[in-house]
Amino acid sequence: MVNSPYDILFEPVKIGPKVTKNRFYQVPHCNGMGHRWPKSMAEMRGIKAEGGWGVVCTEECEIHPSSDLSSSTLMRLWDDSDIPTHALMVEKVQEHGALAGLQMAHNGFCASNRFSRIPQLAPTARATRYDDPMQARGMDKQDIKNLRQWYKNAAKRAITAGYDILYVYAGHNLTILMHFLASRYNQRTDEYGGSLKNRARLIREILEDTKEIAGDKAAVAFRFAVDELMGVDGIRCEEEGREIVELLADLPDLWDVNISNWDNDSLTSRFGQEGHQEPYIDFVKKITKKPVVGVGRFTSPDAMVSQIRRGVLDLIGAARPSIADPFLPRKIELGKLDEIRECIGCNICTSGDLLGVPIRCTQNPTMGEEWRKGWHPEKVAPAGSTDNILIVGGGPAGLECALTLSNRGYDVTIAEKEMTTGGRLNLEAKLPGLAAWRRVIDYRSYMLSQKANVNIYLDSELGADDIMDFGFQHVMIATGSQWRIDGVGRENNFPITIHDVDVYSPEQIMAGSIPKGPVLIFDDDHYYMANTLAEMLHDKGIEVIYVTSSDKIASWTENTLEQSKIQSNIINRDIRLIRNHFVIKARNGQFTLKCTYTGRERIVEAQSFLPVTSRKPNDALYNDMMSKQDDFAAKGIKSVTCIGDSYSPSTIAAAVYHGHLAARQLDEKKDLWTDFKRENTSKIMAKF
Ligand code: ADP
Ligand code: SF4
Repeated sequence: MVNSPYDILFEPVKIGPKVTKNRFYQVPHCNGMGHRWPKSMAEMRGIKAEGGWGVVCTEECEIHPSSDLSSSTLMRLWDDSDIPTHALMVEKVQEHGALAGLQMAHNGFCASNRFSRIPQLAPTARATRYDDPMQARGMDKQDIKNLRQWYKNAAKRAITAGYDILYVYAGHNLTILMHFLASRYNQRTDEYGGSLKNRARLIREILEDTKEIAGDKAAVAFRFAVDELMGVDGIRCEEEGREIVELLADLPDLWDVNISNWDNDSLTSRFGQEGHQEPYIDFVKKITKKPVVGVGRFTSPDAMVSQIRRGVLDLIGAARPSIADPFLPRKIELGKLDEIRECIGCNICTSGDLLGVPIRCTQNPTMGEEWRKGWHPEKVAPAGSTDNILIVGGGPAGLECALTLSNRGYDVTIAEKEMTTGGRLNLEAKLPGLAAWRRVIDYRSYMLSQKANVNIYLDSELGADDIMDFGFQHVMIATGSQWRIDGVGRENNFPITIHDVDVYSPEQIMAGSIPKGPVLIFDDDHYYMANTLAEMLHDKGIEVIYVTSSDKIASWTENTLEQSKIQSNIINRDIRLIRNHFVIKARNGQFTLKCTYTGRERIVEAQSFLPVTSRKPNDALYNDMMSKQDDFAAKGIKSVTCIGDSYSPSTIAAAVYHGHLAARQLDEKKDLWTDFKRENTSKIMAKF
């Protein structure tokens, strides 16, 4: 690269005894694979290193069984037997010239210890983070000595595994070091409690211990949340957050700074923009002489350069941008900026960890599948034939399928009935806060526009007879889905009685219809649709009554770290909220609701009804095609496949994944849904 404005991003940076080749730093991030699926984890990290990240870190690593995070799956360094799983990751990362970092962690009363059954530890005896009926014990001096020793043991093992960077982690209020620091958790009266200096004593000791063990073999990073966004109740960047940085200024080799808790750190695009942490963390570099890394869902190289030039950061930290595009640094280096698959900030990735399964990503369908399916984000098997493919429907599934097929070298034609591609996202990206979701379409549309082997026909609604006569060898049906307006969903198995009530579908509201208020929104979906519509209608002056069959609004968004923010949005708008109820009848402005617990009924009055319950697949075209199966051979049709929401309505991530899978499936003998590698099982069983 000659005199690129982005050259500065490719400068090496010294971190203690190590040097990173560039400023692209994949900060620690969970992935749901960890100690249970270490080969999967190692392969995924290795691909990031291949994609150009100068530093690639693990997720949290439990340093001891008293910090057991079951049923989430993180890394473990409980004893020497864990070292090989780490060595594997280190090898994969260093193979590409990147530094490997380990996030050592003890989670104190925020560990579940459900597997190890050890009572949790806390600076002062207290309730645990989980709802489990148990308490954390207040640590005595011996416990503190033990904790220091566990950190030392883990650091020694990490050095043996070959790590370049060892983390001392107080990045979120989930870690024991943060618990000692925060006066609300630490009510000790000894030298580890009271003044800030005392509360920071354990951090200093562990930093010093770790540095001693690391010597010149590894750098020591300190990950610290400078602000908890809790006002006077928590650590604030202008007060204690700053004082800690002053106190420990040049002790660590690297400051990795962020804001707490995880939902603020990994803020979704619905609630914050790229670079949103800057006002909190920008003071750090003015205090320390050591390099500083921070995050902010950075996908724009200009924003990255600006962070460096303005002296905010030395290293561009990224978790989600590196998940959405493991090759982001390489693309910047090659000047292929339009080819960056930008993170949309939806946090589908965090759902893997929170649900105890491998990570997945809306933008990058290969994420989590690197080892078990052998999927690479930038490489795909060449076409096995010169067959032509027709894709009906240009939503997320159709576009991803087309792009992957075209990358394989197939000639692809997309027929889309609307005047534009984008499918459901044309409407959904207009919902409050979801504009960045449009990137799913923008990235694919741009990439397809560069392809000589792709034709897109808009305003082209196809029927089965058209398709039969076109002469394509393979047909992918990606015709999407529609929200139901008959109340059928989780609670109602059959259409409910609806008489003399104006009923609206989410699509109609998204397209601009304004219902007469009060409008009763029935959320049986528990994700983003009902609550974004409620916010939108309320903000247009329509009275909204929000009925949900769940205990909480948008309960599934616990997995995207958004639930409390969404519920706050509804509460702050004073929207009338009825939980644990579902609609069983809507007649003449009177809605009959039933309690999900007691079955007791009650009447609520409203003018209009907006059910957000479930979606029907648009599978009529596929079914029509399959009814003509006997004629396929005569027409030269070799396969017809239904993909995305028209196969089974789900998340956008699932539609993209299915589109990608279907494209790889073509002329592949294995069933790509079911036929994948599983870790260790056969070896373990062979011993018995
Ligand atoms: P998915 O998420 O599975 O991609 P979407 O609903 O987002 O589903 O997209 C489906 C797309 O298919 C929409 O853009 C829709 O206009 C288009 N479509 C539906 N039926 C037809 C058809 N018969 N011919 C062409 N395009 C269609
Ligand atoms: Fe970004 Fe969403 Fe992918 Fe997470 S799942 S990396 S937030 S696009």
